[in-house]
Order: sequence, then structure tokens, then C-alpha cells
Amino acid sequence: MLAAVNPQASLRRSINQAVRADINQCYTCASCVTECPVNRATNKLQPRKLVWMANLGLLDELLRLPDIWYCLGCNRCSHVCPMSVKPAALIRFLRQEAVRAGVVPAAMHGQLQQLHREFQGARRQVAADLLDQSSARPTPAAVRQTPFQGSDRDAGLPRRAGDYLGYGTNLSSCFACEECSNACPISLDRSVFDPLRIIRMANMGIKEPLLRSPSLWLCIQCQSCTQSCGQAVKGHLVISRLQQLAVEENLVPADFRTQWQARQALLYGRFLKAVDGLLAAPGEAANA
Ligand code: SF4
Ligand code: SF4
Ligand code: SF4
Ligand code: SF4
Repeated sequence: MLAAVNPQASLRRSINQAVRADINQCYTCASCVTECPVNRATNKLQPRKLVWMANLGLLDELLRLPDIWYCLGCNRCSHVCPMSVKPAALIRFLRQEAVRAGVVPAAMHGQLQQLHREFQGARRQVAADLLDQSSARPTPAAVRQTPFQGSDRDAGLPRRAGDYLGYGTNLSSCFACEECSNACPISLDRSVFDPLRIIRMANMGIKEPLLRSPSLWLCIQCQSCTQSCGQAVKGHLVISRLQQLAVEENLVPADFRTQWQARQALLYGRFLKAVDGLLAAPGEAANA
């Protein structure tokens, strides 16, 4: 039998006041659901559901949901919401409350951070392995058949181009302040992924090492780099264009995107299992 839902108007008001996430503006369009990278890979994190539970004032239930610990904190849900609802801010608040209420231990934040680091390291390794698979590498003949052969192919990327290969990115305005890297939810270990490094290499016109880098594929297109940039550099578009170029120029295997997406589902599934393990046995999972 389904349990009856008991809306708690006062809790809804206090959540709204504490978070200022405009949850009452949600009209359930599901943009956040379709754009959440975790949900895309696993179908297990629906920001809309959390927003609506908050709208019903179901605070106790929310604090006990594993879903709030699955989030990468990437803000993509907030960036795509047409009503300026901020599900990511709501999730941050719920995590703090879960610790405050003793639902999870205070060490949870640090342990989760460590899991996130390991997860991104694993993603990079898988991307590198996929790019390294010699059987999947483009043959020299296939490379020669690309429209970018000869001098075009060897020419490098256009240096300090504001209109970047057909995308208006304002790239040449970058002055290396690092705010994009600080805001990037994937850049937990700069040796694994660093948007500033990619932007600097692009500005220097370095082509093949950049287009062949596994790091390029770690970007989840959350736009946090773009939102944080005082120079209006659109980092997410730069990276998206570089990925496209890598495919167009046969610098990655032809089926790389398909394979990478399939591996994402596996990797994200493992990440969620590791989070479940952390919730089940807080002190132990981080050492597993
Ligand atoms: S994108 Fe915004 S309005 Fe649409 S379901 Fe998500 S929170 Fe609600
Ligand atoms: S912050 Fe990112 S991972 Fe978290 S719910 Fe929003 S889109 Fe999903
Ligand atoms: S935030 Fe903008 S200006 Fe600063 S390093 Fe990143 S792209 Fe460059
Ligand atoms: S590089 Fe930019 S778009 Fe890509 S994951 Fe980092 S912040 Fe998001």
C-alpha cells in the first residue's frame, strides 16, 4: 500500500527561506532531469523530484534519500532551469542539514570528496584506455582521407582567436585567472582535468596534444566555467568544439563517442554504488 503524503507547508517555507532556491517556481518541465549528467548515465538522480519533495515540505524524507549524495554539484540543473530554480543549491542545503541532524556523520563530506576525486581519475583512465586501443585507432589510410590532411592538418589551431573555429567564445580575452578551474566540478585534481590548461593550450594554438588528450572528454558541459569567467570566455563551448574537431580530424577512433558514453554508464553506476557503500558504512567505504 502506498504511504500517504503529508504536505508540511511550514517546512516548505523554511526550506525556501534557508536556501533561496526559488523551488516554488518549478513547473515540472523536467529540463533539469534530462540535463543532469548523473541522471543521464544512471537514471537515479532527478533534481525535479527533490524540488517537489521540498515543495511538499518533506524534509525528513529528503534527508534520508541517498540521491542527495549522488550529486556532483555541477549546477547544470540550475543553469538549464527556465524558472531560475536552483536544485543544486537545494541539494547542498540538504546535505548540510543531513549532517546537522545526525543522519550522516560529519566526515561524510570529506569521504565523498575523496570518492569524487577517484571517480574522475577513473574516468580519465578509461578515456585514455579507449584512445589507446590500437585496434580502434584510425589507420594511416583513414587519417589521410580526412579533409584536414596536409598543411591544414599540421597547421595547429588558430592562435588567440575570439571567434573560435566558428564558435563565439571570446577565448582570446582569457588572462589565466583560474576562476574557471576553481568553479569546475570535475577539476578536483588539476593533473586529471583542468579547464584553464585546455584554454591556455588552445590560445597557444597547440593542436594535436590537445585534441588527443583524454582529459578533453571529462568535461560534462555544465557551463560553470563560463558562468564564473569575468572575461566572458565560454569555456564549455571551447571544449565542445575541440571534442568535435578531434572527431572530425580522426584523432580519436570513429566510434569513440559511442564507446565513451557506454563506459560512462558503467562508471557512474559504480560511483553511485560506492556512495551507497559510504552511506551504509561511513568510516569504511572511503578506505575500501
Ligand atoms: S528545470 Fe526548473 S522548472 Fe523544470 S523541473 Fe527542473 S526545477 Fe522545475
Ligand atoms: S548539480 Fe549536477 S549532478 Fe547535481 S542534480 Fe544538478 S545537474 Fe545533477
Ligand atoms: S575564468 Fe576566464 S579569464 Fe579566468 S582563466 Fe578561466 S577562461 Fe581565463
Ligand atoms: S570545463 Fe566547464 S563545462 Fe566542462 S565540466 Fe568544467 S566547468 Fe563544466
